[in-house]
Amino acid sequence: PVRVRFAPSPTGNLHVGGARTALFNYLFARSKGGKFVLRIEDTDLERSTRESEEAVLRDLAWLGLDWDEGPGVGGDYGPYRQSERNAMYKQYAEKLLESGHVYRCFCSNEELEKMKEIAELKKLPPVYSGKWATAADGEVEEELAKGTPYTYRFRVPKEGSLKINDLIRGEVSWKLDTLGDFVIMRSNGQPVYNFCVTVDDATMAISHVIRAEEHLPNTLRQALIYKALGFPMPSFAHVSLILAPDRSKLSKRHGATSVGQYRDMGYLPQAMVNYLALLGWGDGTENEFFTIDQLVEKFSIGRVNKSGAVFDSTKLRWMNGQHLRAIPFEELSQLIGERWKSTGLLTESEGPFVDDAVQLLKDGIDLVTDSDTALSNLLSYPVHATLTSPEGRPIVEDKLSEVSAHLLAAYDSGELFGALEEGLAGWQKWVKGFGKTLKRKGKSLFMPLRVLLTGKLHGPDMGSSVILIYKAGNHGIVSPQAG
Ligand code: GLU
Repeated sequence: PVRVRFAPSPTGNLHVGGARTALFNYLFARSKGGKFVLRIEDTDLERSTRESEEAVLRDLAWLGLDWDEGPGVGGDYGPYRQSERNAMYKQYAEKLLESGHVYRCFCSNEELEKMKEIAELKKLPPVYSGKWATAADGEVEEELAKGTPYTYRFRVPKEGSLKINDLIRGEVSWKLDTLGDFVIMRSNGQPVYNFCVTVDDATMAISHVIRAEEHLPNTLRQALIYKALGFPMPSFAHVSLILAPDRSKLSKRHGATSVGQYRDMGYLPQAMVNYLALLGWGDGTENEFFTIDQLVEKFSIGRVNKSGAVFDSTKLRWMNGQHLRAIPFEELSQLIGERWKSTGLLTESEGPFVDDAVQLLKDGIDLVTDSDTALSNLLSYPVHATLTSPEGRPIVEDKLSEVSAHLLAAYDSGELFGALEEGLAGWQKWVKGFGKTLKRKGKSLFMPLRVLLTGKLHGPDMGSSVILIYKAGNHGIVSPQAG
């Protein structure tokens, strides 16, 4: 059965790279009817925090990547935090000691340093060459009796090579002669990262390890440990890096890189998921819009690209717009209406007004948060202010005198607002008559009208805009701070 895992280290926020790794694991599990396991890799006790763990869990949940086993849900292979699995690591370390795959190394740090220096002088790779790999039992007993601290060192074959068949990269092989015997347990009894990961993946019956490319060097060590423990090797898939537009490794200096930052900026989880999936994957067609269910249906690890994927925040923004407009209208209107209320833009979320405004503005925004500016922008030039304020008049009179004179008359007589009270039909009727009187139509009628009534050269449908502006001003829907 397919069992995959996402194994974050809780030392910070969930980065877009981590989120993509989680997503690929999730999609693989769901597409194969397998299990998606979440394991917290908190062996680095100094850098790991519960706060960060909670933030990572919250961000994964927000993205909709629900896990079948792990913190909060439990499962048959727990505990799911490395810090709670020490007894198990210890047990397997002893097993390796018994089988001779591991030996006790009593070298002090000074000795190890010296070894490194000598290797450097001789221009040899800095591999462990201490005597403890071949020490006689008597010598070991002696040190044990003295209470000399020791580490557990893994005996690496001195020659030959090791290869894996990576599901994304194909065959990857390493020569073993430069690796050197590595430590799997420190002298304080603390197991080392690569050892924990191997024991965990094996005992959690993980079938496929899908993770970032930067873990490839770890895979070599882990594969050796698998063999030594006699565990079947999982399949590996190493996903390429996410790059900045300049093709360097994506980092904070390129802008927002954590999932939480995007959430706070108003991005939708479904857009994030869609965009992250496209970082290194595609279904082979031109199509780029996918819901999470569609991704589950289409995803295949074989289509994941070997080369790095560029993170393009402009495209992510665009994609958010696509998903925003895919939300059923009633839901979208409610979402935006609530936002306008909560930001104090609207005094009350009066149904028809919000619906009309959302209908008018939705095509011009990519983020829910854009709706604030869109609305206040629209309303920042109320019709009566345009026509009657000291600032409004000069524009009207200097620039567009013929149209504006007639418009003023329509305003003064109450005819314009009367028409607006009747909604779109009223407006259309009025505009028609207005054009006739002025002998203008098309652009020469609508451009000056738009400027005079909305204060802008371009914008969404003029009639709807003007009605909204009018209603907002006249019916007290908009709070005084708007505009
Ligand atoms: N804990 C590692 C990380 O946060 C992941 C290790 C793995 O997937 O094997 O990068």
